Amino acid sequence: MESCETPIPMQPRRPLFRAVSALSVLGALLALQACSNSDDVITTAAQDTACAQVTDSGSVDVGSGLPGDPAAPEPASGFRSKKLVSAKTYMVVTANPYASKAGCEVLKKGGSAVDAAVAVQAVLGLVEPQSSGLGGGAFMLHYDAKTKKVQSYDGREMAPAAATDDYLRTISATNAAPPLPIPAGTAPESNAAFTPLKQSGRSVGTPGAVRMLELAHKDYGSLAWKDLFGSGVQLATDGFPISGRMADAIAGSRTLLFTDPEAAAYFLNADGSAKTLGTIIKNPAYAATLTALASSGANALYTGPIAENIVKKIKMTSGGSPSFAITPGLTELSDLAGYQAKRRDPVCTTYRSYWVCGMGAPSSGGMTVASALGTLENFYLAGYKPTAMDTNGGKPTVMGVHLISEAGRLAYADRNKYMADTDFIPLPGGSPAALLDKTYLRNRANLIDFTRSMGTAVAGTFTTAPLGISSAEGKGTTHMTIVDKNGNVLVMTTTIESGMGSYRMTNGFLLNNQLTDFSVLAADASGPIANRVQANKRPRSSMAPTLVFKMADDGSMGDFLMGTGSPGGATIIQYVIKTLVGVLDWGMDAQQATSMVDFGAANSATTNVGGEHPNVNATTPAGGLPGGSDPLVSGLRTLGHTVSVSSQSSGISTIVKATRNGATVLEGGADPRREGIVLGDTFKP
Ligand code: GLU
Repeated sequence: MESCETPIPMQPRRPLFRAVSALSVLGALLALQACSNSDDVITTAAQDTACAQVTDSGSVDVGSGLPGDPAAPEPASGFRSKKLVSAKTYMVVTANPYASKAGCEVLKKGGSAVDAAVAVQAVLGLVEPQSSGLGGGAFMLHYDAKTKKVQSYDGREMAPAAATDDYLRTISATNAAPPLPIPAGTAPESNAAFTPLKQSGRSVGTPGAVRMLELAHKDYGSLAWKDLFGSGVQLATDGFPISGRMADAIAGSRTLLFTDPEAAAYFLNADGSAKTLGTIIKNPAYAATLTALASSGANALYTGPIAENIVKKIKMTSGGSPSFAITPGLTELSDLAGYQAKRRDPVCTTYRSYWVCGMGAPSSGGMTVASALGTLENFYLAGYKPTAMDTNGGKPTVMGVHLISEAGRLAYADRNKYMADTDFIPLPGGSPAALLDKTYLRNRANLIDFTRSMGTAVAGTFTTAPLGISSAEGKGTTHMTIVDKNGNVLVMTTTIESGMGSYRMTNGFLLNNQLTDFSVLAADASGPIANRVQANKRPRSSMAPTLVFKMADDGSMGDFLMGTGSPGGATIIQYVIKTLVGVLDWGMDAQQATSMVDFGAANSATTNVGGEHPNVNATTPAGGLPGGSDPLVSGLRTLGHTVSVSSQSSGISTIVKATRNGATVLEGGADPRREGIVLGDTFKP
């Protein structure tokens, strides 16, 4: 093993993949692994610490290859403790070091939060392609510090104009077989058909993220759009080392990537094996796409040759090796050309002495978080603070987890029944107000028993047509939180739905499988399902980018306090709730709340307690259940919870505006379960 002081063969302050061959990079990286993420390394590369990773002994440029470089690929691990980062005026938190760096450089130049988000997305689509990208969709909330206005943006994927309510269930009106490929012997019942459905053309929605970024940039951009793609183009051209999570995603999807030879050729070696951790990978097609976007705007993707390629991929009728038949999607060029990102009203409610703003329909995220918080407001949560507080958020208490999980059950019950794209299916009462009414939620809170879990909750009753229930959703996605020098704040959750989307790739990016967030079934015994497929409808999401403000003396929305969000499919709502409660009720800093054990429940008897967390003992005692020796887990079981200690795949990115020693500072937390980092004009507090 080489010592940590061994100089790495490279030119300082230039991306490591430019200066040395892939082979020597790998050698250097292997030597680095024993040292990375430790704070006792000698790091002097960054003279200007802004946008560099600050350690106890200095700072290091992201991508420099020097000891402590957070971009040095490491095997994906369950949980790697992280330290709170403080900055003076600007900050960015994303799930990947290269993406944080790209966003930070934009902020450093004086770019706005939206400018930084464009640069971050351009890089994420390359270095974390399994989670988000140009072929996906996104939701964003933006706070304009000057006008104090919160604006939300909907870049959700859309079903094609030709889609009918059986789009995911049958091949056509005259052929009741399920969309292909369906592996032999698989019953196409309800949402269980999810995995093979991802490979069919029916899963792909018209992408929305790029149009949304363009719209937000028109509203709040400050640097020229064309100048925001440089980092992405450079990384795609020069290559970057495959990270631990990307390597895991490739290995986990290896056989499915054969669905599209173009995807297989990019992610796999010539012999069909998965490209592995640290391999330098280049994506010239992606660089060309970014260059086209930079010069022509979003139209480069929604019209012309790239749009034609997207449609071709959706309409593929066979794939795989050996080849199998695929049911094509019905997307046309007109679906792409006609796609519009939308400005939407955010869902803002009070929670104790705060205002919390979230994303409204077609996401259920903001409303479900608000519903749970409105229920929890009826309990003295501060009395159930985690014990043994540490940088990882301490040990949650049985009653704290019980109350939050029960509030979650009640909120998810309403979500599953009533929430969908409101351009098609109105909410009870025509707005979020009825579902979030304080008296209604107090009555819901009264259903919570301190001594027993309710198991499964029943949705509230509203004078609306009877509706069926849908809880469909997958896992993938990524979240960024950004504050710029002018105090504008942006939270954006961006996705191609589940890992590697629909396994189709064109022009250097993957296409989403977002339409699987619709209910496969159009109705159940109770009636039509709100989240059924309809032409030009957007599938219900759980993404919950969230902004928190202090309440002003007159009760109105005051100063910005906190921005957060996470990936995790329907579980996103649980991750966001626990992070909000961690800061607002339990006084945690941004990193503690982000790191805290992920816990909560959707509307089932199962309560999640993230077993990957160092403060949870997830082992199985002899003759017992997983986690049986852990007092939190056994305490919950005593209250009737069915506890799962499976690892939770959150990727929370949080920024909190705090006062330390009389000065206002930004504090950031990146999820220890992912690869992300916090950057900004950082300082050592
Ligand atoms: N498609 C999901 C949604 O929109 C997100 C998937 C994930 O977070 O992994 O809610």
